This record gives sequence, C-alpha cells and structure tokens, in this order.
Amino acid sequence: MNNLVIPLVDVRSLIPSLAAGEVGGLLADTRGRRLSDLRISVTDHCNFRCVYCMPKTVFGRDYPYLAHGELLSFEEILRIARLFVQRGVRKIRLTGGEPLLRRNIERLVEMLASIPGLELTLTTNGSLLRKKAHALREAGLQRVTVSLDALDDATFRKMNDVDFPVAQVLDGIAAAEAAGLAPIKVNMVVKRGSNDHAILPMARYFKGRGQILRFIEFMDVGASNGWKLDEVMPSAEVVQLINAEMPLEAIGANYPGEVAERWRYQDGGGEIGVISSVTQAFCSSCTRVRLSTDGKLYTCLFAQGGHDLRALLRTGKSDEQITAAIGAIWSARDDRYSEIRTAATTAQEKIEMSYIGG
Ligand code: SAM
Ligand code: SF4
Ligand code: SF4
Repeated sequence: MNNLVIPLVDVRSLIPSLAAGEVGGLLADTRGRRLSDLRISVTDHCNFRCVYCMPKTVFGRDYPYLAHGELLSFEEILRIARLFVQRGVRKIRLTGGEPLLRRNIERLVEMLASIPGLELTLTTNGSLLRKKAHALREAGLQRVTVSLDALDDATFRKMNDVDFPVAQVLDGIAAAEAAGLAPIKVNMVVKRGSNDHAILPMARYFKGRGQILRFIEFMDVGASNGWKLDEVMPSAEVVQLINAEMPLEAIGANYPGEVAERWRYQDGGGEIGVISSVTQAFCSSCTRVRLSTDGKLYTCLFAQGGHDLRALLRTGKSDEQITAAIGAIWSARDDRYSEIRTAATTAQEKIEMSYIGG
C-alpha cells in the first residue's frame, strides 16, 4: 500500500546472481516452482468499493492513491513484460484496481499482444465492458474474467457498495461474449453471511451458458477488509450445496498449477471452479508473480514487501541487468503464506489487493 511502510528490497544488490535457481534454462524458486504467470496492476483506482477489497471506511475521499508520475508508463510495462517473457512467463493478466479505468488501456493491450507466444487476459468488475469489449478484442486481448458477487440487485449493490446495478455487469458480460473474449470466467467471492445465499442462483444462471463460474474463498489480503475466519465459506461446502441440486463430478486440471479445482455438471451443463486459498492452499504449485501499479514486484499475494523494478528502469539499467534481477528475485523466493496461515500472520500488515493486483 502506498501509505504503509514497506520494507523494499534493493534489487540492485541482487543483480550479480543471475544463474542461481535455473533448472534446464528455466527459472525455479527455492521450492522448485517455475515462473510462468505475471499479473500486472495498471491502476490502484476503482469505481467499486467491494466490502472485501476496498471498504469505504479505508478507501475514502482522502485516500492517498499513487500520483500519476509514480505509475509505470505503457512503454515501461511493455519493456518489463518482454523481459519476463524472456525469463519464462507465458501468461500475463492485466488487473488492478479496475484495469478498464486506466486511460487508453486498449493501447497497452495492443502493445503487449505484439509479444509472441503470450496468453493475454484481463480481470475486470465488468462495469465498463459494454463500452470497451470490442476495442479490447480488436487490440488483441484473448479473454476476460469478470467479477460478480450476486445476481440479485440488492445483494450486488451491497457487495460493491457504490449502488452499481447488476444488469450493467451482465450486459458487459454479454458484450464481451459477443466480441469473442471467450470463454469468459466469472469470479464470485463468497463471504459468509453477506452473499452465500447468492451461490445457488448464480450457479443456476451460469449453468449451460458456456461461461465458467468460479467461487473464491474470502481471503485475508491487505489490512483493511476486516477478515474473519468465520466469514470464509469453505469451497467444499459450496460444492456440496450445488451438488445437492445439480449433481457434479470432479474433473482434472487444464494445466499443472491451475488454481481452480474444476467440477462439471453431470448432465452436460458445463463446469464450475472453486478457488480454495484458505482451506486448501495451493502454494506448492504457485507460479505467479505480481507487478504493482508503481512497478514493485511481489512474489506472493500476501507479501509484506516488494522489489523496486521501477528504480531499475528509471536509472538506466540494461535489459540484461533487469533480467538478472528478476532471476535473482525468483530464485530466492520461498513464499507459502496460505500453507502457514495462523492468527498471527492474518494480523500482519500486508499489501492491499487493489494495489498489487488480484
Ligand atoms: N477490479 C477487478 C475485479 O474486481 O475483477 C480486478 C481487480 S480485483 C482485486 C481481482 C479479483 O480479486 C476479483 O475477482 C476480486 O473479487 C478478488 N478479490 C478481491 N479481494 C478479495 C478477497 N479479500 N478475497 C478473495 N478475492 C478477492
Ligand atoms: Fe474494485 Fe475489483 Fe477490488 Fe471490487 S474487487 S473493489 S472491483 S478492485
Ligand atoms: Fe502463491 Fe503466496 Fe498465494 Fe501461496 S499464498 S498461492 S505463494 S500467492
């Protein structure tokens, strides 16, 4: 968070150790995990105030968002992205904050889409999708994931806390589908006592539509969402609830390290996913790294500190030096927060999800 004191590691001191942790030419961390997935947060702003992410009490009018000059420019993002691809990244997801609020996001998509061999996706709250879906597709975006926490307007408005109507998000999903940004994934964060009653209506609505609904356990990210364990609804309960009405069977992962556990409807109505980062940690296969809006690199969603890549970009370091720094950071990585979560760790000050990118 830009207003927290974060122990930043000076990556310049890491530059010489390029070869550490390389396996067969690919980067591996101290637990043998390969680097393959980069999430880039393009803005720390959002037009929603989801209760589990940017609660109004903290993200009010006076909230100290990043100044414009602190943001990575599109050219800086492209340069870093290329270097990550050289180091093994095969998938980039644009996120935020709300990524569609970043001015000319289509231009960034076009720039990134020019990198060969890359899967390029974006996660959005869907509020601006009707306006942007076509341009994003034209620019080379392959798919979108849309967050949606309920189908009934009253619950959805309570969850986004800015009185945003559900119909506009559904319309955005339709626009994305029409533009060819498919298959669309729909993410629902389940917060017990707030929107768990929306699970079945969501499952019924998305069944048979070719859009993949995924239920995410409410996580203790950041330091402001008032997370409590008893507000986490375990994915196993979600699956049980749906299975009782619409029988499910487990199916295998699409690729190694996929975070969602997949289930398909036995009657052929498609599939759902559950992401159980609290009750069934998947750190052992975590291949993700996150770049914050201001160019700090975080090797875990729950990190307390980042590595300042922007400083390298803005002090004239060569591609080789930056690539070496990336290699050194990943090689030294030992994160496994969700596997070792305790009452003490949940109370630690952590980076906010809207800044680091979900
Ligand atoms: N604004 C965009 C959106 O909402 O899709 C992108 C950024 S948002 C931080 C990315 C994802 O993180 C969303 O699917 C959101 O639901 C999820 N998320 C945010 N806070 C969370 C929390 N405390 N627990 C679980 N998921 C969370
Ligand atoms: Fe905004 Fe996404 Fe966070 Fe909701 S989850 S407040 S839409 S960044
Ligand atoms: Fe990856 Fe950290 Fe999440 Fe574990 S807790 S899966 S290491 S981001």
